[in-house]
Amino acid sequence: MLEKLKEEVVQLHLELPKNNLVAWSSGNVSGRDPQTGLVVIKPSGVLYPDLAPDKMVVVDLSGKIVEGALKPSSDTATHLYIYRQRADVNGIVHTHSPFATAFAAVGKPIPPVLTAICDEFGGEIPLGGFAPIGDEAIGEEVVRSIGKSPAILMQNHGVFTIGSSPRAAVKAAVMVEDAARTVYYAIQLGDLIPIPQEMVARLHKRYTQQYGQ
Ligand SMILES: [Zn+2]
Repeated sequence: MLEKLKEEVVQLHLELPKNNLVAWSSGNVSGRDPQTGLVVIKPSGVLYPDLAPDKMVVVDLSGKIVEGALKPSSDTATHLYIYRQRADVNGIVHTHSPFATAFAAVGKPIPPVLTAICDEFGGEIPLGGFAPIGDEAIGEEVVRSIGKSPAILMQNHGVFTIGSSPRAAVKAAVMVEDAARTVYYAIQLGDLIPIPQEMVARLHKRYTQQYGQ
């Protein structure tokens, strides 16, 4: 079932190590099939080169395994909580990508000091509070704090990104790390120069409505 989505989610997982967003088997991508509402997610603890469509796990929104022999990612409860609360979201990514997670470790959101941050995120990349791993606490905090941003830094933990598709969520995960790296380097050089709020909004509008083919 959902063969196309499983293949897509496998291919998108490979973007995580390619973009230096993950170490070993950490990190995960999921995609929701809009027709059935079922979610395809990474199996727990499987290394990236070993992922294949038949190893992916299909779960319903309550976490019941619908197809798959392996145990789903330990972050499944977080993904499912977000899907249940956000009908606009059909893709979710979680990583501990190093530069973004460094901001999470010191509890700092990433301010919109680059036009690329305004374009992609429409403002600062927000920070969510500390939440323990294992139940719905992380999902609750993501939904509470992410606002209109496609990405959030979770304090002392890492990054969650959301999108209208799994591909959009992976793009946001790449872009949040890229932004975090540049802002990190900028902080070493001097004081960050804020972009006025009105310009942040203008850049975001132009990018989301006019950029691309
Ligand atoms: Zn994590």
